[in-house]
Amino acid sequence: MANNTPKIVIFSAPSGAGKTTIVRHLLKNFEQFGFSISACTRSKRPHEIDGKDYYFISLEEFQQKIKENAFVEWEEVYNGSFYGTLKTEVKRLLDLGKIVLFDVDVKGGIALKKYFDKDALSIFVAPPSLEVLENRLRNRKSDSEESIQKRLEKCKYEMTFSPQFDVILENNILDETLETVEKMLIKAPQPPKGE
Ligand code: 5GP
Repeated sequence: MANNTPKIVIFSAPSGAGKTTIVRHLLKNFEQFGFSISACTRSKRPHEIDGKDYYFISLEEFQQKIKENAFVEWEEVYNGSFYGTLKTEVKRLLDLGKIVLFDVDVKGGIALKKYFDKDALSIFVAPPSLEVLENRLRNRKSDSEESIQKRLEKCKYEMTFSPQFDVILENNILDETLETVEKMLIKAPQPPKGE
């Protein structure tokens, strides 16, 4: 894989498995990657930047773009909150010569893999166990008990889709996971010519 890096790399995972940390690590340390900025209809969180984290658009605008067939894929990820990958966004990154990195939900990941087929590598980031995921969600201290239970149920459901991905990456110890990802995706240094 290292010498044959795909043009499209898709990371999907149940919430809390650590996919966003992995994607951020790659973007921070390797300039060959470009992040596919999704369009979404949920409201912007205080630390987020429009046009960097997401293209925050209205539901009307989102529906208009569905009609125009502007999305590679889109999902209602949470009740009433729509997320989607714009065709123009993928083109923008490919035109810049970037390897396109996706951070999308599990169904979105499967749809993107179908669309890009052999040009894409799809990676399912799995938590080592439901217990570990539960601890992670609790340690975030941002979720209510009800929301933790809902996320765990959703995780069980999403885990059933993992065999549809090219790679299942268990995120147990983060540093080791990052090393595995780098080995998979970063071109190994070429020997000097003539050797
Ligand atoms: P959040 O609202 O926490 O930023 O993201 C919620 C979920 O939506 C995450 O699992 C994220 O990966 C997913 N997501 C973000 N963009 C897209 C997209 O374009 N398509 C799909 N299907 N899911 C997305």
